[in-house]
Amino acid sequence: MNKLLLIVALLVSTSKLFAQPQDDSYQYKIDLLNEKNNKVNVSFILPKNNLQRGKFVMPKLIPGYYDALNLGQYISDFRAFNKNGKSIAAKRLDTNTWIVSDLKNIAKISYKVSGGWEHLMQNTSNGKSTASMFKKDSVFIINYSSLVGYFEEIKNRTYSVTLKKNRKFFPSSALDYISKNDTTDIVSAKDYRHLVDAPVLYCLPDTTWIKVGNTNVLVSFYSKENRSYSKTLATKIETILNNQQAYLGGKLPVNKYAFLIYHEKIPKGMMADGLEHSNSTMCLYGSNTLDRLPEALMGVASHEFFHILTPLSIHSEEVQNFNFLNPRLSRHLWLYEGMTEYATIHMPIKQHMINMQEFIKNIEGKIKGMDKFNNKLSMTEMSTNAIKMQDQYMNFYQKGALLCLCLDIRLRELSNGNMGTQELMQKLIKRYGPEKPFKDEDLFNVITVLTFPEIRQFFKDYVEAGRPIPLKESLLKVGLDYNESAKTVLEIKNPSASQLSMRKAWINQ
Ligand SMILES: [Zn+2]
Repeated sequence: MNKLLLIVALLVSTSKLFAQPQDDSYQYKIDLLNEKNNKVNVSFILPKNNLQRGKFVMPKLIPGYYDALNLGQYISDFRAFNKNGKSIAAKRLDTNTWIVSDLKNIAKISYKVSGGWEHLMQNTSNGKSTASMFKKDSVFIINYSSLVGYFEEIKNRTYSVTLKKNRKFFPSSALDYISKNDTTDIVSAKDYRHLVDAPVLYCLPDTTWIKVGNTNVLVSFYSKENRSYSKTLATKIETILNNQQAYLGGKLPVNKYAFLIYHEKIPKGMMADGLEHSNSTMCLYGSNTLDRLPEALMGVASHEFFHILTPLSIHSEEVQNFNFLNPRLSRHLWLYEGMTEYATIHMPIKQHMINMQEFIKNIEGKIKGMDKFNNKLSMTEMSTNAIKMQDQYMNFYQKGALLCLCLDIRLRELSNGNMGTQELMQKLIKRYGPEKPFKDEDLFNVITVLTFPEIRQFFKDYVEAGRPIPLKESLLKVGLDYNESAKTVLEIKNPSASQLSMRKAWINQ
């Protein structure tokens, strides 16, 4: 009996010893160390499969960007090999896709990837924050969507990426990098979307960590001219994040967040390019000096950080299962961008960071901003057609934010001051969350159930049908007079008790 047990135990331990590395994941290798002519070598082992052939995809589009990027344009020298190192046929179909034969016998695929830009003043077809940038001796900005792909037939797999890099470089990212040795880092992601959602900045470290509640926030800075500046930026960001945390009920829904800031000296003026991610913001900033960077960054930081609510924690299936080749877009950009921007202007007044006059000025800014767009369009249609209607997209930051202001006041009115958009968002986070998407067509009904029957009509009129938002009547309820022809907002001289109590509930003033 004992002997048998021993043999069984031995068998178990030997089988563990000889266990193959996880074979249902994509295992990528990216060599930054030997970057040459603005190109890096990339290779990968694909998950075990039984396929005769497969279609390899690089993204045509990525979440949060509503123009075709065709990220396959950076790929060259695409080759597939079997385990004996023999070439297997691979044919490029178009910019973003390749057909690879005999997929089940492929041991390795390799290709080269070009950097998308070299300096901020350069003219490029795509927004720079969507591409990667390689400067061998100083900095790498890695957006995995331009380096890593997937097979259409083998989706929803984990990724492990091993990066070879300069021994002095440090990776800053929302994902955790494990240092295997001086020149090798490894990062894992639970799927493709998760990986491409977390860009990384590789350079000599200038990093500062701050703790906001339970969230570890990394501020990482790169500038050729200026070292040791992350602490200055972190101090500025910290104030805003603490106020955002209080605004969100004292608890943040993420454990880690990263601000990745690249600065480049340009002769004059100022330029900024950025792209939102769930747990990080990559900000590219050009200026002659750093004088105005902290202020500029605070503006970006407050909007981007609020995305930890939506889409990160509240999003539809279209976002969760984003199709990188032919995406079907969600109808709720009013929520993802409108609510995020509303929180960005609402938080400072609610947290007593600004006064009433400054708040009113921000509202007037949105009213004037909205004027440049077609305000008769349905916001749900603008959202699902965001790619075709790019000229209207920026209105989600204007009209979308003001719509959420009206919704906030309507909710306060119906709830006797107890519930506004802040409380609504908390209810939605509880019901959904990062791993549980909502059905696009259900959201308005769900919000109605969570709030008041009257809210369904609000969405019908102002989001689905595209009626002009009820700004004048909403602001009147909180004692503000909106002059529609002059586009001004004034405080009413002798507000009623009801107006005063509504205003108190709305902005705590
Ligand atoms: Zn945004």
